[in-house]
Amino acid sequence: MPCNHLAARLCDGRRLKTFICKAWKPETVTNISKREGNASGVLRALQYAQLGVSLRVYLERKSMFQGLTFEPFKLPDEAESIRQEVREFLARELDPGTLPNSDFNAGESAEFSRKLGAQGWIGMTWPKEYGGSGKSFLERYVVTEELLAAGAPVGCHWIADRQTGPLMLKFGTEAQKQRFLPKIISGDYFFSIGMSEPDSGSDLASIRTSATKTEGGWLLNGSKIWTSYAHTNHYMVALVRTEPPSENRHAGMSQLVVDLSDKNVTVTGIRNLSGEEDFNQVFFDDVFIPDDMLVGTPGNGWEQVMSELGYERSGPERFLSAFRVIVEFAREIESNPSDEQLVLLGRLASHLITLRRMSISVAGMLGAGKLPLTEAALIKDLGNSYERMVPEIVRLAVSGNSSQRFVDTLNECILHAPSFTLRGGTREVLKGVIARGLGLR
Ligand SMILES: Cc1cc2nc3c(=O)[nH]c(=O)nc-3n(C[C@H](O)[C@H](O)[C@H](O)COP(=O)(O)OP(=O)(O)OC[C@H]3O[C@@H](n4cnc5c(N)ncnc54)[C@H](O)[C@@H]3O)c2cc1C
Repeated sequence: MPCNHLAARLCDGRRLKTFICKAWKPETVTNISKREGNASGVLRALQYAQLGVSLRVYLERKSMFQGLTFEPFKLPDEAESIRQEVREFLARELDPGTLPNSDFNAGESAEFSRKLGAQGWIGMTWPKEYGGSGKSFLERYVVTEELLAAGAPVGCHWIADRQTGPLMLKFGTEAQKQRFLPKIISGDYFFSIGMSEPDSGSDLASIRTSATKTEGGWLLNGSKIWTSYAHTNHYMVALVRTEPPSENRHAGMSQLVVDLSDKNVTVTGIRNLSGEEDFNQVFFDDVFIPDDMLVGTPGNGWEQVMSELGYERSGPERFLSAFRVIVEFAREIESNPSDEQLVLLGRLASHLITLRRMSISVAGMLGAGKLPLTEAALIKDLGNSYERMVPEIVRLAVSGNSSQRFVDTLNECILHAPSFTLRGGTREVLKGVIARGLGLR
């Protein structure tokens, strides 16, 4: 069969299935080789069969494919009008004397968070009865990307806004929602994530910190590590064992709200590569947690934590951490760019635009009540690889006589970049999640 005929048949969707069913059968190979009766006939028959088998494998995989979708979402007009408001707010609030940093973990200001809360830009999507603004996820998307792009100090409220609030809305009791959500929105309560432990990071199911039942509550013992801002935040949502480990590794865990000012909680700073201490080890020594501080159902912690990951992994903070380096690079080459520098800028921008569209798509799906965990993992993996690569490539594309502002921005980013691909799940682990989502493992 001439190649162009074969191609035409393959492109014809209605005939494709018949072709594959026919092609993969062993008798097809025998029939063709008999009919043509020579070596080239045998060869052709084998090629035919091989093609059929490949297509069959492809289609079988396709049927195992468990829904990797990036539905196109357009930012609505309301979202674009909020963008202008946020820009005006930031122009007023940000000190032009400080070096902006688009890493969400790089700067924190309780005062800035409170002002943001007063604007209605924390807990934007949450119901009005808890003080939220009832806005869409796409409107929230615009606010978060504007804050990051401008390098605003968002570290204090980021986790509570992104993760704790949605967790409480989904699993919390009415009393917990009433108590915590309005205070998160006003920028008065900041939360930490208590997942990782000294011997449990990627393999989160192996955690050992445990809470045992006691009169009116739980007694918490053990330790969490790498806990961002535990030294300044008010609470931690900790994933702990409330039942001993069993054959089902994911059973018997629960989420507890821990008051970080409790006298039996010790927070010890850990110095990072750049010499700062923004994450910690947190020790629990018989910390009493009242019954009403358990979030959701006892033993259901694993499922609850997994549902947080769609929020944790898909936002613009997963690809904008190095954005200020791109801005300063553009400023640096503005007056006399070389062709190579322009090509690089174009490539960085085109990757960014793609990641942004994927992230907007996930924001739209979250808003529609879906939980696109595989898509979120893909955004984080691609986005983190991108933001880690940016300072490395830009560093090689400039001359030695760069401005101090550019050098400071680049240096700061280089020192933090190794953490981009660790925090929130490493690249290797994300690839495993993506493979599972694609039905490949
Ligand atoms: C800046 C920063 C802030 C953080 N903030 C917080 C926080 O607030 N709260 C919190 O709970 N945690 C936090 N973390 C911890 C973070 O989630 C963990 O570092 C991460 O999950 C990896 O765990 P680990 O460090 O124990 O590495 P490990 O799990 O020990 O992994 C070590 C290496 O082995 C690889 N590896 C592990 N398992 C596999 C596998 N199955 N297949 C292939 N490769 C594998 C990993 O990819 C990695 O390269 C933070 C981390 C950083 C860097």
